[in-house]
Amino acid sequence: MELLYRSTRGTGEPVTASRAILQGLARDGGLFVPDEIPKLDCPMEKLSGMSYQETAYEVMKLFLTDYTEEELKDCIRRAYDEKFDTEAIAPLAKVDGVYYLELFHGATIAFKDMALSILPYLMTTAAKKNGVENEIVILTATSGDTGKAALAGFADVPGTRIIVFYPKNGVSPIQERQMVTQKGENTFVVGIRGNFDDAQSGVKAIFGDRELEKELSQAGFQFSSANSINIGRLVPQIVYYVYAYAKLLEGGEIKDGETVNVTVPTGNFGNILAAYYAKLMGVPIGKLICASNDNKVLYDFFRTGAYDRNRPFILTSSPSMDILISSNLERLIYRICGADPKKDKELMQALAGEGRYEITEEMRGQLQDFCGYYASEQEAADMIAKTWRSTGYVMDTHTAVAACAHEKYAADTEDGTKTVIASTASPYKFTRSVMEAIDRERFSGMTDFELVDELYAVSGVDVPKAIEEIRIAPVRHNNVCETADMENMVRRFLGME
Ligand SMILES: *Cc1c(COP(=O)(O)O)cnc(C)c1O
Repeated sequence: MELLYRSTRGTGEPVTASRAILQGLARDGGLFVPDEIPKLDCPMEKLSGMSYQETAYEVMKLFLTDYTEEELKDCIRRAYDEKFDTEAIAPLAKVDGVYYLELFHGATIAFKDMALSILPYLMTTAAKKNGVENEIVILTATSGDTGKAALAGFADVPGTRIIVFYPKNGVSPIQERQMVTQKGENTFVVGIRGNFDDAQSGVKAIFGDRELEKELSQAGFQFSSANSINIGRLVPQIVYYVYAYAKLLEGGEIKDGETVNVTVPTGNFGNILAAYYAKLMGVPIGKLICASNDNKVLYDFFRTGAYDRNRPFILTSSPSMDILISSNLERLIYRICGADPKKDKELMQALAGEGRYEITEEMRGQLQDFCGYYASEQEAADMIAKTWRSTGYVMDTHTAVAACAHEKYAADTEDGTKTVIASTASPYKFTRSVMEAIDRERFSGMTDFELVDELYAVSGVDVPKAIEEIRIAPVRHNNVCETADMENMVRRFLGME
C-alpha cells in the first residue's frame, strides 16, 4: 500500500514520498506529514539481531513506499559506510546507569550526519524517479551542525548544488571552520548578520517566492531543503530509536516489551519528533523528555500550552539548540489538532504574526507522552564536569543539557524507567566549552586546537578525522551578508544576476 504525504496547512493533493523529499517544504508553507504512521512489521526480537543498515531498511521501507527495494537498499548502503568510524554506526554507551545513544560517529561528528548522509541519495533517486531535469539547489539555514553535515553530504553530488546560511556570530569556532573550509565545486557558504531564526526565516521566504521559482526554473534550477522540515531528514532519524531499543534487547539490558524513556536535546524538534514516530510505530517508548537550554520556549510550551517566541534570543554553549521557532513542532501541532489544516494554519499564522499561539485544553491532553525540562549554562557545565570526574566519560554541551533534563525529570517524578539519552555531538565539536566546564582556569587561555589535544588527554578518545582535517584545511568561503541580502547571494551563486 502506498503511503502518501500531505501538507500540514493545505488542502493540496497528497504526494508520494519521493515528491515530498524533492520538494522539501509544501507549496503552502506547511510541512509534509505521512497520512498515517506505519506500524513496524518485523518483531523486535528479529530486529535485535540486525545491523544498522538492515534496521534502516525495515523502518524506511514503511515510510518511503514508492522507492523500490533496490533503490532504498542502495541509498542505505552508500550512506552508512566507512564514513562512520564504527560499524555499529550509532553505538550505545552505558554511563552511570543511563544509555547514551552516540549519534556522532559520522563524517561531521554531529547527529545531523545520521540523516544527511542518506538524504542526497534519497533526493537524487527521487529526481530520477520523477523525471526531474533541473539541477537541485539545496538551500539550508543552519545553527551550526546541519550546514556542515549537508555540505559534506551534497559536496560534488552530480545534479545538485548547496547553499548554506549560518549566523556569523552564532556558531562555535570549530563549527565555523568546518563550514568555511568545505570543498566541492557545488558548495556555497554564507555567514549572515543575524541569528539562526533570521537565517531560517530568510530561507523560508526564498522558498515561498513564486517569482523567483519561475526564474530559477527558466535557468534550469529548483530548490529543495536539507533542513529537518524535509521528511527525508525525519524518516532516517526514526531508525536509530528502533535500533537503540533492539540493541538494548540484544545486549540483555531490557526485556522484550519493557518500556524505555528517551531524552532528547532539542532545537528544531526534529530529533525528538523522530523518537515520537518510533513510539507510534510500536517501539515501547514511555516518556519523551524534551530538553532545552536557556532558550526554553519548548519547556514553557509543555508547561503552559502557550508557545511564545517573544523573548530574548540567548547565545549559549549549546548553539545547535539556540532556536526560538522550532519548525518541526508544527507536525506535532497538526497531529494534536486532529489533522485539521485550517486550525494548524491559524496557529502558525499567529506565530508568524504575533509570535505566539496557545493550544486548547483538548490538544494539551494529547501531549501526555512529552514533558519538558531545561538546563542553565552552569547546570550543563556542571554535568560535564561531574560525569567526567565520576566516570571518565566526556559528553558535549548539547548532550549535557539532556543529561540534566533527565536528572531533573527523574528527581521530580521518581520514575526509574531505563533511559536512552540522545547524544548529539562529539565533545570534540565543542571543545572549548567542554574543556572550560572541566577546568576553566586551566584551559581558558589555550587555543582551540591546543584544547583538542587536552581533550584527548583527559578523555582518551581518539581525535576524530573531522577535526584533524580542519587543522590544516584552507578557508574556501568568506561571504558575509545582511539578512535582507540572502536572495541576492543565492542569485549570485547561481549566476542569475
Ligand atoms: C541539531 C542539533 C540538536 C537539535 O536537534 P533538533 O532536531 O533540531 O531538535 C541538538 N544537538 C546537536 C548537537 C545538534 O546538532
